Amino acid sequence: AEEVLNVKNLKTYFHTENGIVPSVDDVSIRIKKGETLAIVGESGSGKSVTSLSIMRLIDSPGKIQDGQILFKGRDIVPISMKEMRNLRGNEIAMIFQEPLTSLNPVFTIGNQMAESIMLHQKKGKKEARKLSIEMLKKVGIPRAEKVIDSFPHSLSGGMRQRVMIAMALSCNPELLIADEPTTALDVTIQAQILKLMKGLITEFDTSILLITHDLGVVAEMADRVVVMYAGQVVEETDVFTLFREPKHPYTKGLMDSTPKIHELKDELTSIPGTVPNPLNYPKGCRFMDRCPYAMQKCAEAQPKLEEILTDHKVRCWLHEEKVVDLYETKSFAG
Ligand code: SF4
Ligand code: MG
Repeated sequence: AEEVLNVKNLKTYFHTENGIVPSVDDVSIRIKKGETLAIVGESGSGKSVTSLSIMRLIDSPGKIQDGQILFKGRDIVPISMKEMRNLRGNEIAMIFQEPLTSLNPVFTIGNQMAESIMLHQKKGKKEARKLSIEMLKKVGIPRAEKVIDSFPHSLSGGMRQRVMIAMALSCNPELLIADEPTTALDVTIQAQILKLMKGLITEFDTSILLITHDLGVVAEMADRVVVMYAGQVVEETDVFTLFREPKHPYTKGLMDSTPKIHELKDELTSIPGTVPNPLNYPKGCRFMDRCPYAMQKCAEAQPKLEEILTDHKVRCWLHEEKVVDLYETKSFAG
């Protein structure tokens, strides 16, 4: 299939008073047409900064230092902000965790949707309104003809997220970036929204970059998964392999700390220890302090992301050393 997104060796650094924070440190990801790729990791893993970099929404002191972001084959790192704004909301759309922050409180739903449709699709006012109502119906909003004239704050969280999805998809984007799209919602509404997104993805053949800390959402939505830790990709494979046979100790830890994946609601902090200070990453493996398998070598040098099986990449010395059955002898529990 056609490749919609190909991020090559992306580095996004924050230049703070205390030093340089390498939030995204040499990250490469690819998404094919119609594919859903999930990036999973704890807060501080760099998953959101990766998505903001792709949208070119990184502000000072943050900066894309290096790498390419090929969108349909063309590098969008060097393009102008004007051109980028045109891509955003047209070919690349984004939905966030809390729609209230991205919906303008002083305009009605209809005005905001119509404005975007008129701008990007060169449609007239009447037609834009008609299309907006159609989209609101499509995302399951009852009495769409009425809701279109209401203000964002008068809607429930679930309804607002539906409006955001309707807005994002009304321009039929090639790529939808969804950053924790259901995290703020209760479990029932969350399931409804995920089901809705899945239906729309199939209908429009949209490619999705899904940012989440929730393995339940990953299992539900993703075709492939990238696991990030401390600014780097530590594992990448298809969703079935990831859940059946995680190869990186961190991924294994995530699985172990999620006894029932659909119940996971909080941040992934059940692995003992915390993410290392990004101002002072260790010379070796960044997961070393929390890893029950750590060896001398892990302290001395950083493992590379290696393809250990077809389409299965892992950044860990265990696999380099072909020590593969350790999972049976050690665990994170206790
Ligand atoms: Fe653990 Fe070493 Fe693998 Fe890092 S490289 S995850 S410390 S075994
Ligand atoms: Mg499309």
